Amino acid sequence: MSGRKLALTHVPMLRETPTSFVSRLAVLNLCPTASDFCLDIGLDWKAVIRGSAVEIDKLAALAGADRRELQRYALRTAGPSCFRIGRETGTIATIHRSRTKICIECVAEGLRRHGISGAFRSADWQLVSIRTCERHGIWLTSLPHEKYTIDNYDVVRCIERHRTLVDEASDGAFSTPLEAYLRRRLDGTRPGFWLDAFPLHVVSRLSEMLGSRIEFGPSVRAVDLTEDMLHRAGGSGFAAIKDGPAALRLRLEGLKGDVIRKGGFQHAADLGVFYHWLSASRAPKELRPIQHIVRSFIIENYPLDPGRAILGQAVHEPKAWSAPGVPPLKWSTHWDRNILFRRTIRWQASETNRKTSF
Ligand SMILES: [Zn+2]
Repeated sequence: MSGRKLALTHVPMLRETPTSFVSRLAVLNLCPTASDFCLDIGLDWKAVIRGSAVEIDKLAALAGADRRELQRYALRTAGPSCFRIGRETGTIATIHRSRTKICIECVAEGLRRHGISGAFRSADWQLVSIRTCERHGIWLTSLPHEKYTIDNYDVVRCIERHRTLVDEASDGAFSTPLEAYLRRRLDGTRPGFWLDAFPLHVVSRLSEMLGSRIEFGPSVRAVDLTEDMLHRAGGSGFAAIKDGPAALRLRLEGLKGDVIRKGGFQHAADLGVFYHWLSASRAPKELRPIQHIVRSFIIENYPLDPGRAILGQAVHEPKAWSAPGVPPLKWSTHWDRNILFRRTIRWQASETNRKTSF
């Protein structure tokens, strides 16, 4: 294979994945499938799908393409439910690995320029939280899933089978600042926000869950959120947190209800879907700095029972108790709930006596 080059080749499209590039070269070189093409030229198709750096280097050499660009946008298997794209990581919940989304306008442009071998798949389209095309301002379109998962990676053949989808008009859609930020990270740029320290899957879900609470109120549930709602929420949530922890705390202040009800669960009611997501047992460990900020906010702003667990940690010294009007007291581990209850009753009785003695 050393020194051998394909006679017919393409230049990769912007952010094109290596599997998409192989699929296009297969069509250009008159092979029926990407798998057959790889057999012919000595590439391991499954290794390309797994994001093997060795195999992608071979592909770049054969096609005369920029190896750094192909390597940057390869989706690599990094664990059972974990992937890497360039310097970024993602999970099975935040990256569509085999499911294909396309911008029908971008693909139509490629078809006009190169025929069917101009159809392609861009790495940013595979992120769950990227739902629109930045150039055309339209929703991305999902292709139907193929019978065998491996066939989804032969994207030109998939688009050829569903060509009518490319001819359909897509509704206009606005691109969000969250999408722009995710694309910059995929391109290898860190814009200098505090969010740069978090993995992409955390930035995406943090923005969408906070934004869902901001946009749709305290009663909305995660199961009620449609793709359109999550898109809008992602933009709002990202705008609310991109400037740092102080901006997040300020936004949390704005979500506080006017009335503090009894029972010590007001914080969960006020923060709604955002709090439920943060407190889920499956919340990733990278979320801990955010949980710490929200937990501090709750302790400073809501009455709580001593010992109540907030975001995975018990609060032993709440700044305000859930029984309204009871002054805070240094918590002793020797005290139990009954002692606290009796103390509360005594305090309330003394308050009543004090008020009625005038
Ligand atoms: Zn487009």
